[in-house]
This record gives sequence, C-alpha cells and structure tokens, in this order.
Amino acid sequence: MKKINLSDKEFSLFIPSSDIRLTVKRMAERINVDYAGKEVVLLVVMNGAMIFASDLIRKLKISARISCVKISSYQGMHSSGNISQEIEFDREALRGKHVIVAEDIVDSGVTMEYLVRELKMARPSSIAIATLLSKPLSFTGQSLKLHYVGYEIPNCFVVGYGMDYNGLGRQYEDIYKTT
Ligand code: 5GP
Ligand code: MG
Repeated sequence: MKKINLSDKEFSLFIPSSDIRLTVKRMAERINVDYAGKEVVLLVVMNGAMIFASDLIRKLKISARISCVKISSYQGMHSSGNISQEIEFDREALRGKHVIVAEDIVDSGVTMEYLVRELKMARPSSIAIATLLSKPLSFTGQSLKLHYVGYEIPNCFVVGYGMDYNGLGRQYEDIYKTT
C-alpha cells in the first residue's frame, strides 16, 4: 500500500488519481446538463479546492468564469469552529450569476453554511455547491444542500489533491488518509 509522510504523520492511499479523474468528469457532465445554455461562475474556495476546481472547470462545456474566496475553519486535523475569511469575494462579479461553489471537502458543513449566507448578500441568480468529498457522519448543516458530491467518506482525515496537513501534501495526485 502506497504511503506518504507529512511532518509527524503517516498517510496511506485512499482514492487513486485515476478514480478521481473519472469522478470529476462525471460531476462536470452533470453540471453541463443542469446548466445547459447558461453561464456559471465557479467560486473556488482556496486553498484546498484549487486543484479540484482547475480539473472541474476544464471539463465544463458551458460558459464559465472563475472567482475565488479564501476561507478556513480547520487547524491541524480538527475543525476550529471559527471561520476566517482571508479574501473577500467579488460581490459585483457574482450578482445575477449562477454561482457554483467548488469545495474540496465538506465536514461539519459550518464553513459552507457561512459562505452560502455571505454569498446570498451578493444576490446571485442561484447558488449550488460542488464538493469533491463529503463526510455525512459529521455533517450538521440541516438547511445546507450539497448539489454535486464526488465521494461520501467516513470520518477520517484526508490529504492530497489540493488538501493539506499543516500546509503540506497538496501536490499529490492521489488522496491519502490517516493510517
Ligand atoms: P467544515 O466547516 O465543513 O467542518 O470544514 C470544512 C473545511 O475543513 C474544508 O474546506 C477543508 O478545508 C477542511 N477539512 C475538513 N475535513 C478535512 C480533511 O479530512 N482533510 C483536510 N485536509 N481538510 C479538511
Ligand atoms: Mg476547503
């Protein structure tokens, strides 16, 4: 089994890149159908979702723009519950648009609930969430709908394909989990 080390932790292979590629393609195909004839803005939640979003947008056949927001609630391997927004999103760029939020992973859902609340103030035409991973066992966001989900996973900590442990491991093409 393929393993990697990031600072003090060991991780083992969880989802290989070949599988991720197919899943991202399938998600894009659904978006292409659902938004046929429309234009979307892919709102990338930095830093974690940058790799996922860059693969996703390259599979979109509809008209698409990119916008970014930087937000985080994780410290080390645990959700801190405090959300910090380091980059404001461009409200003008989102007004009247079909916004699709591209997220790496939804855990408790607190971060996405916060972002959706903020986003509504920019008055987009619609908001959808596309997340590569979701942890349904720790999800508490009753009113939050996840429209496009790549994988539902158990409550483990994952890295790779954009996701980090203390800032490291984002560059791996596969996804790894704690051993
Ligand atoms: P939530 O607010 O849903 O609890 O946490 C969501 C954020 O925490 C995600 O955007 C992601 O950045 C981070 N996160 C949640 N679970 C994991 C994980 O297993 N690995 C990594 N690297 N980040 C995670
Ligand atoms: Mg994230």
